[in-house]
Amino acid sequence: MPQQHLLPTTVVGSYPQPDWLVNRPMLSKSVPRVRMDIWRLPDELLEQAQDDATILAIRDLERAGIDIITDGEIRRESYSNRFATALEGIDLDKPGHVKARSGHRTPVPRVVGRIRRRGPVEVRDMKFLRANTDRLAKITLPGPFTMSQQAINEYYKDTDEMVMDYAVAVNAEAKDLVKAGADIIQLDEPWLRNDPDAAKRIAVKAINRALQGITVPTIVHLCFGYAALVPGETKPVGYSFLPELADSTAEQISIEAAQPKLDLGVLHDLAPKKVLLGVLDLGDPRVETANKVAERIRRGLKHVGAERLIPAPDCGMKYLPRKVAFGKLKALSEGAGIVRQELAG
Ligand SMILES: [Zn+2]
Repeated sequence: MPQQHLLPTTVVGSYPQPDWLVNRPMLSKSVPRVRMDIWRLPDELLEQAQDDATILAIRDLERAGIDIITDGEIRRESYSNRFATALEGIDLDKPGHVKARSGHRTPVPRVVGRIRRRGPVEVRDMKFLRANTDRLAKITLPGPFTMSQQAINEYYKDTDEMVMDYAVAVNAEAKDLVKAGADIIQLDEPWLRNDPDAAKRIAVKAINRALQGITVPTIVHLCFGYAALVPGETKPVGYSFLPELADSTAEQISIEAAQPKLDLGVLHDLAPKKVLLGVLDLGDPRVETANKVAERIRRGLKHVGAERLIPAPDCGMKYLPRKVAFGKLKALSEGAGIVRQELAG
């Protein structure tokens, strides 16, 4: 494992997919919850193309100087649907629908039986990443609470029971991902704020179940939605469900902070967790300077010790032009370098 320095940089998960691989105009309209055919290649060439595009993403992350990388989630239509639609107990032929705040009807998995994991979903992805980088390697899974919110329940009498079955499925996958070489496992739980009452009741219990027995560092990621789809001025300036996460067994909490200009006082609530602090505003098409990133890191350091701070983008970078994403990540690693030197005196 490579030598770890203070303020190691990372990504949240996704990196832009090449235009030759996916239909970006189609992708830009919504975040798919069921399968969506965004792929520009025929089935027989798709895996090969996804493998090659994944190597491009890995190399970009390495060249940008990121310490803890992912595979860029190049094979996914969204952060959650690849895993969520692979489970037993859902009807994909006749999906259900949820109404977004915009009034837009989004098709979602319809739960018609007990949620169970059929077999490995992301294990080949993890092995591929492990075989193609020496950096610390992280892989993400959709969190059990978020998946339960992105589904229509027509089977369980008690929805909390459904959340816990999702947690068991995530846990089985996470254990296999560790065996496949994952150094870090992250659960994406952006929908925690979708139903605050249910979140208070069951989210921490479900997250802990999903992470049970995982021997590598674990992260829970929270955010207010992709900058490409949720404008900054409509984002809340605080999280309704953050202090609660300090009670979870996750070692680290990942939060969006740059775009919504989050009051960083909330970081005190997260002690003793490590914090992946969002210091790249993905709603701003301009590439931040390294100094701007350094300034945001320093602001974070007023509330959390350097040994607990991990600079990161606000969220996944899937919706950005690749050039912009690369520039921002380079600024991230250079900005962290500036502050690292200051700390070394
Ligand atoms: Zn996010």
